[in-house]
Amino acid sequence: MLDRDTESAEGRDNVAAASGPDRRKALWTACAWLAPPFAAVGLPAVFPPGADSWYPRCLFHKITGGYCLTCGGTRALALLGRGHVLGALHMNAVVVAGVFVMLAVGLAHLIQACGGPAPRLPRMTRKRLLLLGAALAAFWLLRNIPVGPFSLLAPR
Ligand SMILES: [Zn+2]
Repeated sequence: MLDRDTESAEGRDNVAAASGPDRRKALWTACAWLAPPFAAVGLPAVFPPGADSWYPRCLFHKITGGYCLTCGGTRALALLGRGHVLGALHMNAVVVAGVFVMLAVGLAHLIQACGGPAPRLPRMTRKRLLLLGAALAAFWLLRNIPVGPFSLLAPR
C-alpha cells in the first residue's frame, strides 16, 4: 500500500515536472504562431491600404506588370481584418491560407498550453517542401495568365 502511494505520488510529480515546462514552451510557441497573423491582419485593418498609403509598392509588378506571389496580400489582410474572407481570397489566396495555417498551428499549441494534448503536426520533409514550393510556383504562374479561371487568382 505504501509503495503504491509512493509510486502514484512520484508519478504525479513526474507528470507535473514534465508538463510545466512543456506547457510554458507550448504557450510561447502559441504566441510565436499567433502574433504574426494577428499583427498582419490588424495593421492593414487599422491603416487600410490605398493609393496614398505608406505601404511599399510591389517592385515586381512595377517592373514587369505581372503579379508576384504576394501581390494583393496587404489588401487581402485588410479584407480579412474586416471579416471579408471571400474578398480576401480573391486578392491573394496564398496569403489567406498562410494566415489560417498559422492560426491553426498557434491554436493547437494554445490548447496544449491549457492542458490539452500535444499537437501532432505533419513534419516538413524534403518531399513536402518540394510540393509546397511547386504549389506556390504554380500559383504564381497561373495568376499571371489573363484568361479563363486563372484570372480569378489575380488580385481584383
Ligand atoms: Zn507583387
